[in-house]
Amino acid sequence: MRMKTREVHIGNKVIGNGNPILIQSMTNTKTRDVESTVSQILELEKAGCDIIRCACPTMEDAEAIKEIKKRIHIPLVADIHFDYRLALKAIECGADKIRINPGNIGSKERIQAVVDKCRERNIPIRVGVNSGSLEKDLVEKYGGVTAEGLVESALDKVKLIEDMGYDNLVISIKSSDVLMAVKAHKLISGLTDHPLHVGITEAGTVFSGNIKSAIGLSMILNEGIGDTIRVSLSGDPRLEVESAKIILRTLGLRKGGVEIVSCPTCGRTQIDLIDLANRAEEMVRDIPVDCKVAVMGCVVNGPGEAREADFGIAGGNNEGLVIRHGEIIRKVPEDELLPALRDELIKFAGEKGVKI
Ligand code: SF4
Repeated sequence: MRMKTREVHIGNKVIGNGNPILIQSMTNTKTRDVESTVSQILELEKAGCDIIRCACPTMEDAEAIKEIKKRIHIPLVADIHFDYRLALKAIECGADKIRINPGNIGSKERIQAVVDKCRERNIPIRVGVNSGSLEKDLVEKYGGVTAEGLVESALDKVKLIEDMGYDNLVISIKSSDVLMAVKAHKLISGLTDHPLHVGITEAGTVFSGNIKSAIGLSMILNEGIGDTIRVSLSGDPRLEVESAKIILRTLGLRKGGVEIVSCPTCGRTQIDLIDLANRAEEMVRDIPVDCKVAVMGCVVNGPGEAREADFGIAGGNNEGLVIRHGEIIRKVPEDELLPALRDELIKFAGEKGVKI
């Protein structure tokens, strides 16, 4: 059961109030380099990114949003630190949402100026707090950086903006400590109905970051908490999107798309399974039908072990099998396995009324 949160519109997307959980990522190009930024965003769109965030550390970056917005199709969030004038410029240039930490924007007047501009355009503000920048008084009050301190900090900032007469807000609480992040999300979701953007910050490199994010996000999402997510990785942002999709699908929070499962390989493996599974995953990316495909390493046990999947492929001794619910439906030369699987998936999509 998802927690009830308010509906918030971010460009052409809607979050909260039971709407699907959306996937965010962040560009790692210089935002002012419009060509590179647009090309990365288009790649991310293709990978399944729903909302993109771009850092705007300079005026040139904030100004670039105008041109970038013309060439992309998903909402753009401008990420602003310290200088409220950058936020004002980003909003003027068409940002669909602003991410600020009011704590580092400075005086109340400056925050008010950003809030007024957002109100003028009716765009949401993401109020973000981060364990790395928790206020000293809260660190002292709670005897260190704690989930309680993070929650109090976030709610203080929300109140500050609400008192300025604006409540089109999304909250994010970030901690690289997974269990602290989980606790903070559980605490805050009982205290506010603003939508929550969920992520484990500075999760790490692709391998360990994926594991930490999967653990943290799953524990949070499984409580019904979260309206948008980001998997933060020190790596290609497309991997962030792929990982987020897998996490949502595994938790039953997103449908659509082919899920590839593959056998772990063993002494009976008769085919280059790792390469085959990777190529299969790549091949099914553009097939939007909801099903599971098992990629198995031998023709003896493969069909049986693939029974739980909708489709399977198994290879060995130059022979390839295409399997549907455990039954062999085609025998092809090994190097024709993937095209044969693709044919069957497209036929299956047709049966389901899915147009490709
Ligand atoms: Fe081993 Fe075949 Fe099972 Fe893969 S499908 S783990 S190769 S027995």
